[in-house]
Amino acid sequence: MAKRGMLIVLSGPSGVGKGTVRKALFDAGDTDFQYSISMTTRKPRDGEKDGIDYFFVSKEQFEDNIQNGKMLEYAKYVDNYYGTPIDYVNATLDSGKDVFLEIEVNGAMQVRANCPDAVFVFLTPPDLVELKHRLVGRGTDDMEVINKRIKKAVGEIGMMRNYDYAVVNDEVQNAVDRIRSIINSERLRVTRVMPDYEQMLGED
Ligand code: 5GP
Repeated sequence: MAKRGMLIVLSGPSGVGKGTVRKALFDAGDTDFQYSISMTTRKPRDGEKDGIDYFFVSKEQFEDNIQNGKMLEYAKYVDNYYGTPIDYVNATLDSGKDVFLEIEVNGAMQVRANCPDAVFVFLTPPDLVELKHRLVGRGTDDMEVINKRIKKAVGEIGMMRNYDYAVVNDEVQNAVDRIRSIINSERLRVTRVMPDYEQMLGED
């Protein structure tokens, strides 16, 4: 039986660049872990595609999934639901492949409670002024939404203490490199490789 894969959780405040960092990580084309596409009730932004950026669903569909135990975690974020469909994650981990989630902090804490051996990485902004700049510069949300997101971000940064690693997003490529080294080191943890050796020892 394949050794179960490792679950990697990237989160951090809105606007810190999680999506950009995640895309850069996967666009490199040589990733040896799988991205879990989230489900959301928010409307697609320009250029976003269903089944690629998110699974875009109605509030009723999302609530049905919650009721039927189909979400590994979910959160209401600025008036919309976001969550991780559980079946894809379990099937991929069972096949021995590592799975990467990019989610906000409340969802990450649910994963922490349910999957204690997952790896939790917190992406931090160099500072809050820079964060506001990025949200405004993105031009995708109006000022009311931006202000709501910033207020939320201040609270979210305090959540860093619940994570295993802090990665500053000063430059996207630097952040990507740091995340890759975390994943590579985590794979070498004795608790993760020990089952292989136990099997070998048992066969002696
Ligand atoms: P956006 O609307 O900018 O795409 O995402 C808003 C927030 O929701 C971001 O912080 C993003 O990381 C988070 N998010 C995306 N997918 C998920 C998910 O599956 N679960 C949770 N809890 N948060 C998510």
